Amino acid sequence: MSAQQTVRAADADEPGEIDPPRRESLTALLRRRRRSLGRHSGIQYWLRVRGYYILAAFAGLFTLNAVVIGGRVAYDVSVQIASPWETRAPWVALPLSISGWLVVTGFAGAVAGYVVSEVTDNRSLRRSRGRAAGRRIGAIPLLDRLQYGRHGFEIPNYFGIRFALRHDGDWPTAQDHWEIVVEKFLNAGDARGKGPKRVMWEAVLEASYVLDGMSGRCPECTGPEEGGDGTH
Ligand SMILES: [Zn+2]
Repeated sequence: MSAQQTVRAADADEPGEIDPPRRESLTALLRRRRRSLGRHSGIQYWLRVRGYYILAAFAGLFTLNAVVIGGRVAYDVSVQIASPWETRAPWVALPLSISGWLVVTGFAGAVAGYVVSEVTDNRSLRRSRGRAAGRRIGAIPLLDRLQYGRHGFEIPNYFGIRFALRHDGDWPTAQDHWEIVVEKFLNAGDARGKGPKRVMWEAVLEASYVLDGMSGRCPECTGPEEGGDGTH
């Protein structure tokens, strides 16, 4: 009787043989990183989503100014050394002066926020999970990496490999569905007062135990056909 309930017993439910996955492609890596953005909140999240556009726009504005008023003057205007009114073309230099101020203060604030949240985040994880936890936690983890002991997450035994087996050993599909589920937990959770590592750690814990408790196929495979009779 109790032999049936060996979910936590280490070797009793060791899964069968399975080929290791191929190396993650660049598209898959970028998709995984995008889906992992939910671990950030506030300005950290915003800068990661929109920050690159802002930097690109700023670079464009700077280039335009460098052409019109010269590179040196453009630099002086963007770091507030020179007034835009003293330049040859104030209507081009004024936006550069304002956005230079915004970019510098905005990114300085973001860096300060990052440092503070990183310190408190590591401290809170270390207090509850031990010293090694947290150091490696970043984006949503790769399923095959979860086999090894030092990933810093807490998951059911052999979770990664068993989830891949539920997809007939199709690692890319399994990884795709795993990321979709973790992303839902990331976005559903309350991130207030928690750092990104803590948020990711909790989402991985919840997603893995929920998926592990489900019998049969994964919810992303069954999809919307689950409720109806799936007539298409
Ligand atoms: Zn699936």
